Amino acid sequence: MSSQSLVISTLGTPRMGPRRELKAALEHFWSGQSSSSQLLETAAALRAANWARQHALGVTAIPSNDFSLYDHVLDTSAMVGAIPPAYGWTGGQVPLETYFAMARGTQGDAHGDGCDGHGHGHDHEAGVPALEMTKWFDTNYHYMVPEFAADQVFSLASLKPVEEYREAKALGFETRPVLLGPVTYLKLGKSKDPAFDPLSLLGALLPVYVDVLRRLAANGATWVQIDEPCLVLDLDDGTRQALHEAYGLFAHALPDLKIMLVPYFGALGENLVTAVTLPVAGLHIDLARAPEQLDAVLASAPQGLVLSLGIIDGRNVWRADLAALLDRLEPALARRGRDHIQLAPSCSMLHVPIDLARETELDADLRDWLAFSVQKMEELVTLGTALTHGRASVGAALEASTKAAEARRTSAKVHDPAVQGRAAAVTPAMAARQSPFPMRRKLQQAALNLPAFPTTTIGSFPQTAEVRKARAAHARGALSDSDYEAFLQRETEAAVRWQEEIGLDVLVHGEFERNDMVQYFGEQLAGYAFTRHGWVQSYGSRYVRPPIIFGDVSRPAAMTVRWSSHAQSLTQKPMKGMLTGPVTMLFWSFVRDDLPKAEVCRQIALALRDEVTDLEAAGIGVIQIDEPAIREGLPLRRGDWPAYLDWAVTAFRLSASGVRDATQIHTHMCYSEFNDIIASIGAMDADVISIETSRSKMELLDAFVTYRYPNEIGPGVYDIHSPRVPTVQEMVDLLHRAAERLSPDQIWVNPDCGLKTRKWEEVRPALVNMVAAARQLRSAT
Ligand code: GLN
Ligand code: ZN
Repeated sequence: MSSQSLVISTLGTPRMGPRRELKAALEHFWSGQSSSSQLLETAAALRAANWARQHALGVTAIPSNDFSLYDHVLDTSAMVGAIPPAYGWTGGQVPLETYFAMARGTQGDAHGDGCDGHGHGHDHEAGVPALEMTKWFDTNYHYMVPEFAADQVFSLASLKPVEEYREAKALGFETRPVLLGPVTYLKLGKSKDPAFDPLSLLGALLPVYVDVLRRLAANGATWVQIDEPCLVLDLDDGTRQALHEAYGLFAHALPDLKIMLVPYFGALGENLVTAVTLPVAGLHIDLARAPEQLDAVLASAPQGLVLSLGIIDGRNVWRADLAALLDRLEPALARRGRDHIQLAPSCSMLHVPIDLARETELDADLRDWLAFSVQKMEELVTLGTALTHGRASVGAALEASTKAAEARRTSAKVHDPAVQGRAAAVTPAMAARQSPFPMRRKLQQAALNLPAFPTTTIGSFPQTAEVRKARAAHARGALSDSDYEAFLQRETEAAVRWQEEIGLDVLVHGEFERNDMVQYFGEQLAGYAFTRHGWVQSYGSRYVRPPIIFGDVSRPAAMTVRWSSHAQSLTQKPMKGMLTGPVTMLFWSFVRDDLPKAEVCRQIALALRDEVTDLEAAGIGVIQIDEPAIREGLPLRRGDWPAYLDWAVTAFRLSASGVRDATQIHTHMCYSEFNDIIASIGAMDADVISIETSRSKMELLDAFVTYRYPNEIGPGVYDIHSPRVPTVQEMVDLLHRAAERLSPDQIWVNPDCGLKTRKWEEVRPALVNMVAAARQLRSAT
């Protein structure tokens, strides 16, 4: 074997620091407790540590400019000077103040934490609102949406890529700078005029990119990584043309600079021809999501093209079976030659936690099956060594990996025959309610006896400092189980009394006992595990710690029944039971990779089905199964939508359909763009769905109208993402708009999401007004 080492890259690394140092530094700076130089110093130290660690582990294509103070798409907007006029930027380098104004608005903590740190809305009372934020492809990372004007001009307004390249160089690290590609960047953006195509700005944008590339080359960069994840989407010819234009220009302007073109999050599919004909030096492929594309790429890539094989999963936390990967890599290497192959994770490691070494409390077996970013780098280096010096040179590491894979395949902690048997025995009838909706509706009306325009809330009430303090004290052992329980019961009782007092129709217990809508259930389900430090970035300085679904999922005991039935015992009004649905339980977790997602989802659905029927048996006549993640689970390619929607809808129905007709099933979703999936929403057949529409002034109800959605709907009339208290009149107006579009007897009156992030001072008057609004509509009809 030749001894020339394979190039090992990481494509990008987590930014927050192993102890979330960046979060603390940002929050201190935002609150005025520290200066910008302190923030920048911390950021530089994190970058230096990151480079040093990669170098020490044996990574050879170390990225720079993968770091960001907030978001790499926002960094790109700053780089090209795409700053909407509202931010008052007058040219020159974009100051930190402007950058954070775009990220957070100019009024304090702008990102309303309305929806579980999984992203969504912004608070903005006065001042300039932040840019819109949305999900980065199918990850749970959220980027700041670029906003373009039709007469948009671009200029080089941030030298961050060049500065960070130089910074690394000064520390002795030769790096491969990372840029977000111009075509993906434009496609992620939007303009106020919906008819305007951001891609039409390509010609104006490219000179700025060329300028940046020139400066990088002038400073010594020989390779640059340019990310174009749009290459895994369904593309039109215009976009393919744009890719040719951009990379053609780069090759022409900088013939000596080598570009590693990096698509990720799926298969190139019919874009393969485009990808392999672009005039670039290297092409990366995602072999975790799309292992099957290796042969096609090997067959069609021109001889001189360097291939970066994304062989280690950058989106999940599982340890690789290295010997099995070598079986796939060795023939590729033989075919292609070692100087034309690089090893990489499937995508940037931004989406996995940093280091497993800190998880000292995890079950030892499970821990042995996991790999976070540091372990993934070690895996890549081991693979590289094996391919260079032979498998024997890393014999111990390969053996350990094989043993872990074997243990995971056979462990009783993972495989539960009872769960598998039950999942295999699911019949179509189990996923259908006993009678069609019109029949159920009659029985539910008789059972619940609700007024027209019934009022309810989405589930949670404010998680006050007191509630969080009690939970923390309980977790520390400073508050006994019984004292904690008594405290929660007092909170619940107070919430129930208050809801009765203001005249809500369907009450909730308030979810005071819950830390998070997924974690709370995951902690009570078999097959789920939780880390101590497994944070990943959700947006800006907000990180989440997704649970890990490692084994067959089952419900050892009832999870919510005692809370709901206690709450129901306090009142004559219907008490709504509150659950997180199977699809959301799946998508807000790291999911095992040894079973299809559909299968894991079915297991969760069965566990929830038991909870639903237990609630019913305990006298709960209204049960809400939240599914905020159904839409975000949509695959990137439209062709994959039907299969996904089919299993997702079936899982929801399986969880919901074990009850009698008279039991009313609600669901809730935190958004209102239903055009693409309205038929599936209909197929879920929930008796009542609550959605977010207050901010769109009910226009987004149109999907339901066009579809003639037959069941009941609660279009949110109170925007909980803002501290503002809506007036009675505003909500009456919204309800009138809804009543113009839907049949009035379909309409429920509720806020657009849970109230956990709000303060009681805001919630009290808002809900009093909401009830008054409902009463006005009742008396008018
Ligand atoms: N029932 C949950 C709550 O009210 C729903 C939250 C959500 O949809 N994100 O908090
Ligand atoms: Zn919601």
